[in-house]
Amino acid sequence: MRYLLISDIHANLQALEAVLEDAARIGYDAALCLGDLVGYGADPAGVIQRIDALRPAAIVRGNHDKVCAGLEPPTLFNDAARQSAEWTFATLSAGERERLARLPKGPASVEGSVEICHGAPFDEDYYVFTENDASRAIDAATVPLCLFGHTHVPAIFSSADDPVVHDNGTPAGELRLPRAGPALINVGSVGQPRDGDPRAAYGIVDVAKRVLQLRRVDYDVKEAQRRIRAAGLPEWLAVRLGRGQ
Ligand code: ZN
Repeated sequence: MRYLLISDIHANLQALEAVLEDAARIGYDAALCLGDLVGYGADPAGVIQRIDALRPAAIVRGNHDKVCAGLEPPTLFNDAARQSAEWTFATLSAGERERLARLPKGPASVEGSVEICHGAPFDEDYYVFTENDASRAIDAATVPLCLFGHTHVPAIFSSADDPVVHDNGTPAGELRLPRAGPALINVGSVGQPRDGDPRAAYGIVDVAKRVLQLRRVDYDVKEAQRRIRAAGLPEWLAVRLGRGQ
């Protein structure tokens, strides 16, 4: 099976449409969605509809989905994140908020050999930035492939005895995953990349062949920024899209 991997869309419909167009050209069998459909961006309802229409084989919620659905207070959010969560809550219909609230907590298992989570398998809100952060998840892994999001930075980590790939800020391209040992993979963020490259990030993984494609796609950043400003959302949320920050 070839899976489309999408994470951290953050209500950026322009980025999501560009990613889906690119992915349709390449081809995949089913989609996996790793959470944070909404928050920050100006098109939360459009993104929820588009993701539902994909009928993902597995989907998990992100921390912004929880807060924007009203399941959790924005205690750990900075001002811009909190303001956008409040705007999102007010903008979505009751039905759309309910849809968000029903997104399952990770991890979710796929085919018995892949699991997806938002932050880490043992804590959906945990940030895996470094090898040190990753080692706990690798040690706890029960399946060969663990896919995560949340940091908005593409990264691949694998066990120390299989040094082929552990590289934070991996360049786009096709990568052969280690045959042995668990690999922990983040394909980056569709709607708010933070690795200095403003293009939308996503991946396609061939589970049987253990090949991962990390893709970057140009999209209409100016339109996404215009919609953020028109919605009255914090200016920084528009600015950062142009910088990939
Ligand atoms: Zn996120």
